[in-house]
Amino acid sequence: MDTTPRPAVAGLARRIDGPVLRPGDDDYDRERSGFNLAVDQRPALIVGAVSAADVAAAVRFAADHGLRVTAQATGHGAGVPLDGGVLVGTRRLDGVRLDAGARLARVEAGVRWRQVIEPAAAAGLAPLSGSSPLVGAVSYLLGGGLPVLGRTFGWGADRVRRLEVVTADGELVAAGPDENADLFWALRGGKGGFGIVTTAEVELVPLPRLYGGGLIFAAESAAMVATVAHAWRAWSAELPEAMNTALAFVRLPGGPLTAHVRIAYAGDADDGAALVRPLRGLGPLADTVAPLSPAAIGAVYNDPTEPIPYDERSLLLASFDDAAVDALVEVAGPDAPGGVIMVDVRRLGGALPRRPEHPRALDHGTAEFSLAALGLDPVATEAVLDRLRPWSTGLRFLNFLGGPAAAALAHEAFPPETLARLAAVKRDRDPHGVFPAPHLAAS
Ligand SMILES: Cc1cc2nc3c(=O)[nH]c(=O)nc-3n(C[C@H](O)[C@H](O)[C@H](O)COP(=O)(O)OP(=O)(O)OC[C@H]3O[C@@H](n4cnc5c(N)ncnc54)[C@H](O)[C@@H]3O)c2cc1C
Repeated sequence: MDTTPRPAVAGLARRIDGPVLRPGDDDYDRERSGFNLAVDQRPALIVGAVSAADVAAAVRFAADHGLRVTAQATGHGAGVPLDGGVLVGTRRLDGVRLDAGARLARVEAGVRWRQVIEPAAAAGLAPLSGSSPLVGAVSYLLGGGLPVLGRTFGWGADRVRRLEVVTADGELVAAGPDENADLFWALRGGKGGFGIVTTAEVELVPLPRLYGGGLIFAAESAAMVATVAHAWRAWSAELPEAMNTALAFVRLPGGPLTAHVRIAYAGDADDGAALVRPLRGLGPLADTVAPLSPAAIGAVYNDPTEPIPYDERSLLLASFDDAAVDALVEVAGPDAPGGVIMVDVRRLGGALPRRPEHPRALDHGTAEFSLAALGLDPVATEAVLDRLRPWSTGLRFLNFLGGPAAAALAHEAFPPETLARLAAVKRDRDPHGVFPAPHLAAS
């Protein structure tokens, strides 16, 4: 129920340069919805921030009126229910400043990776972006950021140099290794419960060449899927760090199941082609693996670009042996009950397990693989993960939790000691729970 007094809202609207919207206003529905159509949040108030000062005013307003407040850039990762609270829309904060000499990008809260990838590629550089260039850069980094090129360059969160963040008291502060280090630690992996980040300064990596794309295999029978999946598993066990790969089973509504092998090789095309040759021998239906402009890195996964409804769940795996392959084919192959649009198994390793220069809340334990399942039916997606639980590290990956159930699972993204430390930062920085984070309140 909206109990915020109208004069107070009018006062806020006067202090804010962007739009302030209430239920019933023309742009309210457009502003509250995002990429995941399964998230139907109905905030009491939406603030379309055009500056860090707008964000600060919105947070102060929420704190003064006992309301909760969270940010939304694109809605790819929406998951914390915000009915009756204040939603800060950040998409108008879309400034990008690139310093190619220093290999740094300064990105505002509403920037999508695509806006960084393209200018960086022109300078022979790349951000450590994920599979979809349409995802918001800041929230991806706050969730840890598993990049397409993760085996080669490590986690996205480890390339964050500095953050500017509005804290629960409405102050804009900087967080880095030497200032507000508790926030810097918590925000890199702990995501949204500590403040609203207005700007992130991130390091770019040199990426002069890329060889990548997808091999798509028919998956009409369980035997066909199993052949590809076993071959991928064995092949991916002995790869150089420059090679990054994932295996996915994809079933778009109404379409047949296909098996996708995703390839991103950060090196010479001839070397990449030599590595990929054994997989080509399996006879893919389609083969888009080729020299690729780093600006077109989104072609490796070819993620959907139009909004869809989904429940997304994750499990980190300590291993993915032949029995795990068979289990996955059983629950997500052509004979599976259905309800799942995609399962994605990413081979980790390489640079990902290396100790970060600055400690962070992201903690992937001993994971060698990331498993994500995405579907319309939460029971079906969780059933996939349940079947693979014997191979799990016990942890989930926060960025791969999306949809209405995400908040309830978030505590499973952290070992108990990390969760306890996050909860301590939360108590210190946001004692009244202005920023919703149910998993931290419970610890
Ligand atoms: C198709 C697809 C592909 C993906 N690929 C990858 C991948 O390869 N690797 C990976 O690591 N992740 C990946 N993700 C997950 C993605 O990184 C997360 O969902 C991320 O949170 C999305 O950020 P957003 O700004 O686009 O989404 P939003 O829904 O706008 O934000 C998600 C949440 O982050 C918080 N938040 C947003 N902005 C801020 C801010 N400025 N300050 C503080 N908190 C904030 C809020 O709690 C918000 O609910 C993918 C997701 C999808 C849907």
